[in-house]
Amino acid sequence: MGARMKHERWKNNFSEWFDEALWNAKIMETRYPVKGLYVWLPYGLKLRNRVLAIMRELLEETGHEEVLFPLLIPENLFKKEAEHIRGFEGQVYWVTHGGKDKLDVRLALRPTSETSIYPMFALWIRSHADLPLKIYQIVNIFRYETKMTKPLIRLREVTTFKEAHTAHATSEDAKAQVRAAVETYKKFFDELGVPYVITKRPSWDTFAGAEYSIAFDTLAPDGRALQVGTIHNLGQNFAKVYGLEYEKEGGAHEYVYQTCYGISERVIAAAVMVHGDDLGPCFPPRVAPVQIVIVPIPFKGEEKSAEKVAKRIAGELKAAGFRVHLDERDLRPGRKFYEWERHGVPLRLEIGPKDVKQEQVTVVRRDTGERFTISLKVVNREVRKILKQINKEMRARAWKSFLNSIRDLKDLGEIKKVMDARAGIVRAPWCGKEACGKAFEEKTRGSVLGEELNDKRMKGVCPVCLKPAKTSVLIAKTY
Ligand code: ZN
Repeated sequence: MGARMKHERWKNNFSEWFDEALWNAKIMETRYPVKGLYVWLPYGLKLRNRVLAIMRELLEETGHEEVLFPLLIPENLFKKEAEHIRGFEGQVYWVTHGGKDKLDVRLALRPTSETSIYPMFALWIRSHADLPLKIYQIVNIFRYETKMTKPLIRLREVTTFKEAHTAHATSEDAKAQVRAAVETYKKFFDELGVPYVITKRPSWDTFAGAEYSIAFDTLAPDGRALQVGTIHNLGQNFAKVYGLEYEKEGGAHEYVYQTCYGISERVIAAAVMVHGDDLGPCFPPRVAPVQIVIVPIPFKGEEKSAEKVAKRIAGELKAAGFRVHLDERDLRPGRKFYEWERHGVPLRLEIGPKDVKQEQVTVVRRDTGERFTISLKVVNREVRKILKQINKEMRARAWKSFLNSIRDLKDLGEIKKVMDARAGIVRAPWCGKEACGKAFEEKTRGSVLGEELNDKRMKGVCPVCLKPAKTSVLIAKTY
């Protein structure tokens, strides 16, 4: 099967491909009878936990501590920060009753947790010695989503919201934290092999209550950008509203400076779609719930020997720390191959009578279809090497295809053509003015992702006002 054939449905019929992939790989059950709410299946939950383990590790090693706040936020606290509230007003679910009693104060199901966490920060932060304060939680949030919902991508219950919140003594410290968070997210997406662009969000699309926002976007196979992470510099906005003051060394009081940054199960959607092909998802070994599936190939009269070797190898690999599944079901091997390919298991080991005789195992890579044998004596060492190689190659392939989908254009008509065809991300020169940024969106029907956070600036003039460009902007159709 040629590479082109393998990507036909994945690319040209992506929406259907995605729903099928989630079901065939047993990641999500989408028939729960409430719009925008879905059920994690065991295999999906294992995947989720692998991804979260990477995130937890990165946050813990950079001094963040995990907490867990209540789901409910009283209306008076929730509505204290006026701008924040304007941003979320239309999306909040309210609890109005406890049993038969109408509640005196309505309770919001958190759509995000600034307004539940910061009043507690006000109690915890006393002096400069309490700073910086860096916490995170992984929780569910609720948003009354009016657009069409989609599993892992657009939800009414986001089940996997990782939100970090920090408080600092100075504005410089907060800015440094924003840069540190960008580095953390880069490492995280590199582990997932998910390519990204990093932008400073446009002024008209900044997080409600933030001074500025930074976003990570990747690209779905259908050419639409998917925002997978955001980082916000909150300045002193929330600190002033919720009274987050600290005592400086000299005894004077000042408000703290804050940041927050989040990801959701969209990162899992990204890992599913970015590495997919017509067979379904293909997980990088780093996050794959099962890294190696072992399938014994029975042969008349010699069933026992293949099974025995398969069991021994499975035991050895498990003991070496690999996530291994030995498929001993009474099914045809072909059926098993088909199933595990659809689960995106990166490596399959087959053990047939010939392999037993020659003291070898047949190895098949899910990402390339490559097939070869390795000696039983060195299975551990070889498998470790191959999995590492697969991680590296999958990331490189994903980045290559991603970068090929970003093009530099200077003409509004050309940009609109790319947007109409949903053919990826466009980089265009920009004078930096909000009016021109908004005109980009109106005239091309794309969305401005923001100003790219690196030096790939385009020279030339802003195609809207024809004044010299100060920076460049990324535009795409988005989810
Ligand atoms: Zn302009």
